[in-house]
Amino acid sequence: MVRAAVVGGGIIGVAVARELLHSGTASEVVLYEKETALAHHQTGHNSGVVHAGLYYEPGSLKAQLCRRGVSLLRELATQRSLPFDECGKVVVARDGSELSRLDAILERSLANGVPGVRLIDSRELARLEPHARGIAALFSPTTAITDYSVVTRALAEEFVEAGGELRLGTEVISLQDHGSAVELGTSAGTERYGLVVNCAGLQSDRVARESGDAKNPRVVPFFGAYFLLKADRRHLVNGLIYPVPDPRYPFLGVHLTKRIDGAIMVGPNAFLAGGRELYGPWQLSPKDLAETAGFPGFWRFAAGNIPAALREGRTVVSKKVFIEAARAYVPELAVEDVIPGGRGIRAQAMNQDGSLVDDFVITGSSKMVHVRNAPSPGATSSMAIAEHIVHGIAH
Ligand SMILES: Cc1cc2nc3c(=O)[nH]c(=O)nc-3n(C[C@H](O)[C@H](O)[C@H](O)COP(=O)(O)OP(=O)(O)OC[C@H]3O[C@@H](n4cnc5c(N)ncnc54)[C@H](O)[C@@H]3O)c2cc1C
Repeated sequence: MVRAAVVGGGIIGVAVARELLHSGTASEVVLYEKETALAHHQTGHNSGVVHAGLYYEPGSLKAQLCRRGVSLLRELATQRSLPFDECGKVVVARDGSELSRLDAILERSLANGVPGVRLIDSRELARLEPHARGIAALFSPTTAITDYSVVTRALAEEFVEAGGELRLGTEVISLQDHGSAVELGTSAGTERYGLVVNCAGLQSDRVARESGDAKNPRVVPFFGAYFLLKADRRHLVNGLIYPVPDPRYPFLGVHLTKRIDGAIMVGPNAFLAGGRELYGPWQLSPKDLAETAGFPGFWRFAAGNIPAALREGRTVVSKKVFIEAARAYVPELAVEDVIPGGRGIRAQAMNQDGSLVDDFVITGSSKMVHVRNAPSPGATSSMAIAEHIVHGIAH
């Protein structure tokens, strides 16, 4: 058994730290989080959806770990009385051109073992979601919602109960492999560990690079803004209403999502963020922007995605355009129905050739492991990602 450290107190870091102790892989685990609270970044700024596994390439890590993650999350929620509402989801085809894509999603869902998923006609859609309009839809009855900050805190409680140590407000600034051990540095000094797992989310590529891991893929931060339906318009949505995603694009498109507290979120869109961890609309980080601008992969990506960038850019500057994207399948929705609902920033890994990394990427050795790409459904999959990493170390 080793003495281990985990960098990052988002849902994946906390799940890994807990799994290292529960599995008996580590005798002692210290979790380092630079903020003064857990779940401060992606984990605390997402849609809260427990994805069922509809979209992912069969056999991919996303497909496998999402399905396993749902089971583990549901089990934890039951045991610990955590919020978990299987409210169901519809993916709405607005016209004939989207039907073949809906068929392709159904095929993937079935290959991934998603329970109960089926195509429905417009009449059944109207029964499930009376305010949605489409010629057909894919219905996933087991897609659920939760509060990932609450789940993270529950996992952290179990970690601490099992003897783990949480060091909040402590940033890891260096990682050096000394052969027999990894030396981890913070402003308080250095410590040696037999194993370090980097779950630093939006900073994961920097932490990996600092330790000598490959430069690429890089994290390119894409923000997603939300609006919230005013309380008297929440009746427009029962569960989760999604458009058919554009297969050339990794994000799912502006959707309507019920939140566990009953609020309805509209969004998120997707556009290059002014900083990796800055949530104000006009905040900019010169360091982060310079790093993105200095990465040739970003310019290749930008050149290949001009129509999508223009489309998303219009949703950034115009609330009307943003809401129009959702009005396409919930026509009663009006600009006056919404108020600003905050934003999240995705840690999306990008290759040197400008392609976005689709699957989860976990690299490293038996002494140092780096979670280099864990976008959505990363929160859904968190406990399964933890199992996957810890099993990989132990074998
Ligand atoms: C807008 C949006 C919507 C999403 N919707 C969903 C969804 O509905 N369902 C779903 O399953 N997934 C969703 N996701 C994805 C999901 O939120 C992420 O996959 C998941 O939260 C990743 O968790 P994490 O622990 O890797 O990262 P994070 O939650 O970002 O945590 C990383 C932590 O590392 C810390 N850290 C960084 N550097 C250091 C350092 N040097 N020293 C110490 N600490 C450090 C950070 O402060 C941070 O707390 C969404 C994401 C976004 C942004």
